[in-house]
Amino acid sequence: MSNQSKPLMVVLSSPSGAGKTTLSKKIQQSDNSFKISVSHTTRKPRANEVDGVDYYFVSEKKFKSLLDENAFYEHSKIFENYYGTSKSSVNEILKNNCNVLFDIDWKGAQQLRKFKELNLVTIFILPPSKEELKKRLIARSQDGEESIQRRLLAYSEDIQHSKEYEHVLVNDDIESCFKEIKKIILNN
Ligand code: 5GP
Repeated sequence: MSNQSKPLMVVLSSPSGAGKTTLSKKIQQSDNSFKISVSHTTRKPRANEVDGVDYYFVSEKKFKSLLDENAFYEHSKIFENYYGTSKSSVNEILKNNCNVLFDIDWKGAQQLRKFKELNLVTIFILPPSKEELKKRLIARSQDGEESIQRRLLAYSEDIQHSKEYEHVLVNDDIESCFKEIKKIILNN
């Protein structure tokens, strides 16, 4: 997809439910030089999630001990749970000369920007509207009512941070949004 020699680090952020996880999977499937960085989280796995594939699911105690060991490039507390990108999972991808895809929030992106040596490309994905986001969160039905409400509350704060990103895309249609991302990657 991309022509560069230094590995690309593509950061995808969005309000929860805007389609970023689907988009990152599509990128990885369409170009095997891209690997998704598997994060650690203290969130409980959803029914379809697999440990070591979707996340490394760990206890809060374990997460905090990894933090003490400085094992993360970045981390964030989101809706009561911790999430973090471990240095080892990124280094594993880089060792295989692959490009890295990060599915992280704006707080994580802010921390990664501090590593000036990284070839970062930052993309923020917006849902077409808050109403559409609500519909998607309900349709996904992985989260309870309370969790959906919290995610909607976070929406306004999340979109405030979209201006910190190099590219902002609206996910009206998953295929056209995916094409836009491919274009961005090709130009880097
Ligand atoms: P979910 O619980 O729906 O899987 O993810 C909630 C939010 O956490 C999403 O916005 C996702 O991008 C973010 N997230 C997942 N992993 C990480 C991580 O390692 N670091 C940060 N900062 N955010 C993450």
